[in-house]
This record gives sequence, structure tokens and C-alpha cells, in this order.
Amino acid sequence: MLDDYGRNIDYVRISLTDRCNLRCVYCMPEQGIELLSHDQILNFEEILRLCQIFADLGMKKIKLTGGEPLCRLKVAGLIKQIKEIPGIEQVTLTTNGVELDKYWHELSDAGLDAINISLDTLDKDLYREITRRDVLDKVLANIVLAAESKRMPVKINCVPMQKEQKLYDVASLAKDYDIHVRFIEMMPIGQGKDFEFFSREATIALLEEKYGKLKPCTELLGNGPAEYYMIDGFKGKIGFISAVSHKFCHLCNRIRLTADGFLKTCLQYDKGVELRPLLRAEASDEELKQAIQAAIAKKPSAHHFEELAAEDDEQKNMSQIGG
Ligand code: SAM
Ligand code: SF4
Repeated sequence: MLDDYGRNIDYVRISLTDRCNLRCVYCMPEQGIELLSHDQILNFEEILRLCQIFADLGMKKIKLTGGEPLCRLKVAGLIKQIKEIPGIEQVTLTTNGVELDKYWHELSDAGLDAINISLDTLDKDLYREITRRDVLDKVLANIVLAAESKRMPVKINCVPMQKEQKLYDVASLAKDYDIHVRFIEMMPIGQGKDFEFFSREATIALLEEKYGKLKPCTELLGNGPAEYYMIDGFKGKIGFISAVSHKFCHLCNRIRLTADGFLKTCLQYDKGVELRPLLRAEASDEELKQAIQAAIAKKPSAHHFEELAAEDDEQKNMSQIGG
């Protein structure tokens, strides 16, 4: 459906849980967060009902996220059911990859259309510092498993923070495998506010020092805000998602559903509608649809990350939103 600014909203990111088996420094505090109770989290029946209504409103793509979505049981079953909803063309997942080997075959068999795996460095010590867990070997093995099995497109998401991450090593995964590596600018949300800005230009400079000039990719890849480049000899492409330095709000096509059922219309603001009370008060599909339509119509025109904090800024961590 169109919002009040004429943007076609056809993509929903659904957070399945606020739990996570990592504690990435820019996403979750070391001690974790106060977790939602079982009752507060939408059950699969509620999520499926909302997906049906989203599809009726013209949503075509669903991304499952978290926290860590694979911390929730039976995700493959949910994917299979979402894929059966007429109008839904694509269901994808974003994961830290730690438990991927456990679920890879069932996720593939369920018809998952693509997977994003988050990885900020190939340096074991730095990975442990960033995620506060010592699981780099496991994640790398799972990236190779996913890439080599060729069951679906695989993308790596990396948040640049410092040159010690050796971003050219992360990029080299696109040399060795037919997968895209995307560098995502840190956004000042939750713990992300505490980090010094590391720009797209700084990342490009580090990559070019190692691999030579990056060449802009003319082919249209994916349907999101990433801009892609090629490096000679690489099988995959290098992408940049730069929400802060290269704002793309005028092209924004997405809304977000938190694990406890808040439909969030912009990453920066605490704006949207609580759907759980409606679901549990036995609202009709029509009433839910109207609540969703009203929230989407009022979707903010743009984020203002570059400005000072405002009262209606989002106070949640990214792990509670889903990225
Ligand atoms: N646990 C899963 C994962 O790590 O892919 C899914 C949830 S995580 C919140 C989704 C993505 O958000 C990850 O790629 C993560 O790096 C990114 N992210 C978290 N905090 C961020 C921030 N402040 N700015 C930009 N990206 C962030
Ligand atoms: Fe967990 Fe993903 Fe956040 Fe890292 S980025 S703490 S893996 S939710």
C-alpha cells in the first residue's frame, strides 16, 4: 500500500524474538536486556494472521529477524506457512549464523528464499570482543555450508567500526564464494549511539587499497537500498547500505513488527501501532487492517539521525527491533 508520501510499502521485517545467543557491542548490553515473557511474544498463529493481513494490504516480502531468529523453535515450519499465503512472494531470514548448521536443511526445504548472515570480522579475537562470544569458527563453517550448498542466495552483512576489523578480509568471502558482502553503516540506535561514525568512504578506501578500484555495478541487484560494486576476480559483489551518509528514506518500502507485536513504521522513531492488544481482544481482520493502514499512512517521511536526540526517538536496542 502507499503511505502519505506515495511510497509503496511492500516489505515487512518481523522480529521473532528479543533473545540472542550473542551480545554484539552495538546491539545489546553485555548483561543482556530485560526479556519479554512468553505471553508478551506473538505466537505463530498471531504472526500468520498478521502476515495474511499484510499480504491483503499489498506486502510481498517478509524478512524474519530477531534478536536471533534461530533462538526460536520451529522457524522452518513458520516459513513454510508464510510462503503458502497468496501474495507473499519472498520470505528471507537474517541470522548471526551460530546455529545455522542445525537448521540449514529444514530452512532450505521450507522454501526460504534467501539468507543474510552477519559477520563483522574474520579476526578471532576481535570477533570475540565484538560479539562477546567465541564462536567465529562455527559461524565461518556455517557460511561455507550455506554458500557451497547453493540452495539459496547468501549475503554477508558487516557493520564497519574500525580498521582492525580488516574489512578487506570480510570482503574476500565474495572472492572465494558466489555471495555478496554488504557493509552496513552503524546507525545511532541503542548501543549504536556510542560509536564513532565509520563512513562508507572510509570502508571503500580500505578495500581499494587492497583490491584496486571498485567498479559500480549497473545490474539491479536485490530490492533494497544497497548499492553494489564489483572487484576484478571476485565471484560476488560488494554492497553498501549507508542509511546515515547516503539517506534513502524517500525510497523506504518497509515496516517492522517487533516480537511483542508493535508495528513500527520508522527505525528512528517510536511511532506505529500496538497490534497485540487488538489481536488478543479478538479484533476482526477488518479492524486490524484499518489499524495497520492508519499507521502506515502516517509513516514518518525520513529519519533525522544527523540531528540531536528528540523526545519521540526510539529507546529500544536494535536486538528488540530486528535491524
Ligand atoms: N541476530 C540477527 C543478526 O545478527 O543478523 C538478526 C538481528 S540483528 C539486530 C540484524 C542486523 O542488524 C545485524 O546485521 C546487525 O549487525 C545489525 N545491527 C545491529 N545494530 C545495529 C546498528 N546500531 N546499526 C546498524 N546495524 C545494526
Ligand atoms: Fe544478536 Fe544480531 Fe544483535 Fe548481534 S546483531 S546481538 S547477533 S541480535
